[in-house]
Amino acid sequence: MSNFEYLQCSRCIMDNRSDKSIVFDENGWCNYCSKALAIKEQVYFPNEEGERKLQALLQSLKEENKNKKYDCIMGISGGLDSSYLAYLGAVKWGLRILAVHIDDGFDTEISKRNIERISKFPNFDLKVITPDAAQFNELTKAYMRAGVPNLAAPQDNVLFATLYGFLKENDLKTFLSGGNFALECILQKGNTHDAYDLRNLKYIHKKFGKGGINKLKLISDFRRDVDAYILRIESLRPLNLIDYNRDKAMGELAEYCGFEYYGSKHLENDLTKFIQQFWFYKKFNVDKRTSHLSSMIVSGQMTREEAQRQYNLPLYDEQEMKNTLELVCEKLNMGREEFEEIMETSTHQHNEYPTSHYAKFRSMLTKLLK
Ligand SMILES: [Zn+2]
Repeated sequence: MSNFEYLQCSRCIMDNRSDKSIVFDENGWCNYCSKALAIKEQVYFPNEEGERKLQALLQSLKEENKNKKYDCIMGISGGLDSSYLAYLGAVKWGLRILAVHIDDGFDTEISKRNIERISKFPNFDLKVITPDAAQFNELTKAYMRAGVPNLAAPQDNVLFATLYGFLKENDLKTFLSGGNFALECILQKGNTHDAYDLRNLKYIHKKFGKGGINKLKLISDFRRDVDAYILRIESLRPLNLIDYNRDKAMGELAEYCGFEYYGSKHLENDLTKFIQQFWFYKKFNVDKRTSHLSSMIVSGQMTREEAQRQYNLPLYDEQEMKNTLELVCEKLNMGREEFEEIMETSTHQHNEYPTSHYAKFRSMLTKLLK
């Protein structure tokens, strides 16, 4: 790109290198931080109002589920958001939590130790589910060969399908989600796709994968919505009701159980690390730090100067990434030659392959209802 003009937001650090769809207003502010700041007061309550909302929520959860074994269910990735939420929920708030961790074989050593620590929390029942490794790895390889951005779709889909299964089995209706405004209010729009688009997943597997996927628990966007409607499932984001600060949360977790930090958002799993730092960056020119650091600017826990300083550092350590790549290839049972070839070939977007019929219908319906 010879005539590429680099543009960066003057309030956050989002730029047109990581996201081509970004637009700037006359102040030089981008659509991402403008939108996040516009909704901030409607979704994020790091104040007394949040405390009141939280107490009411906890009370109703406990009341509603008093005759059941658990109050709610949640997924544990081993990352900070879900680990801290598990700590708050079970230890500080006294919720009885059924938790699910998907061990896809790519947890880092630090993550394994952290999950072991979390599993000992009181009021906390952790189920570790191991998907069929051969089928899971083949599916992930199919996504790589398809050259699409969201390589994490199989991971996310299997987790959600499993959570739904447990939810039904235990007659529960509440998900605790680690999703939060403070660290995730900005996420670049380009190069993403719904992990529950089962039609897309099946097509990619059929065209680029080998063997079956019959041993993997998967869920479609349609099934998810129907279940949510019929079972009146609700997904709560309690981290939006507290002053959620990354460093403070890390400190508290470390003090309570010796939780170790793994470097940066999403690096608790080697496959996720590969996807976040290498796949997105090398294949799609997307540096995920722009979203993560900008979110922290918007939620007021990092200055723009500090974010820019961190953004100017190399995205990863060369030697460390070399090790990660070797490890990922070995676990996926992918030869180095095929890996290099995949990294060389052109990229594709998910919608270049068949996508969910329901998603189109759903977005039409949402527009109509609006
Ligand atoms: Zn911005």
